[in-house]
Amino acid sequence: MTMGRSVGHGCPACLLPGMTLSSVTVDVPYFGEVILSTMLCPHCGMRSTDVLNVTNKEPARYVLKVSSSTDLDVRVVRSSTSKLSIPEIGLVVEPGRSLDGYITNVEGILRRLLEVVRTMEMGLGDDPERLARAKGLIGLLERFIEGKMAEGESLTLVLEDSQGNGLMASSDDRVMKEPLVVLDDQGPAP
Ligand SMILES: [Zn+2]
Repeated sequence: MTMGRSVGHGCPACLLPGMTLSSVTVDVPYFGEVILSTMLCPHCGMRSTDVLNVTNKEPARYVLKVSSSTDLDVRVVRSSTSKLSIPEIGLVVEPGRSLDGYITNVEGILRRLLEVVRTMEMGLGDDPERLARAKGLIGLLERFIEGKMAEGESLTLVLEDSQGNGLMASSDDRVMKEPLVVLDDQGPAP
């Protein structure tokens, strides 16, 4: 079911008021229900999405070792409150409202990271060392997306969410879930 309603927010792109918010409940296999919300600007068409967990909201860290093509199908819910990282290659996507939340799988996450690295590569100019590193990363991500990992090769995908919105879920126990200790100088969250 989808409901659209006008909210008071101004559009971050054209600054005109009247953004429309619609929400739809999505069932994530092996997990439960999450709410996918979409903000749409009727003036310029700017759209942003986010995901809220309504099933079991607890700060958690999910760890998946990606080493074969079957790992690419593991479901991933990335919220604006989620932090994504792949320690082996130093990739970190910090939480933030500026990034859309979405429901995808590991392959979808790797494709988005590949786009990020490709965009970054274009801004590197002619620094040969950094260009070579970016090209190496692109080749690695492309290989994993195609399911052509080398024997014994793996990447660790880590999703941390201090609000408990984001998650990874699979039919078996390949996703490791552990409680996330939130260190916050402002004291405990309300
Ligand atoms: Zn707009």
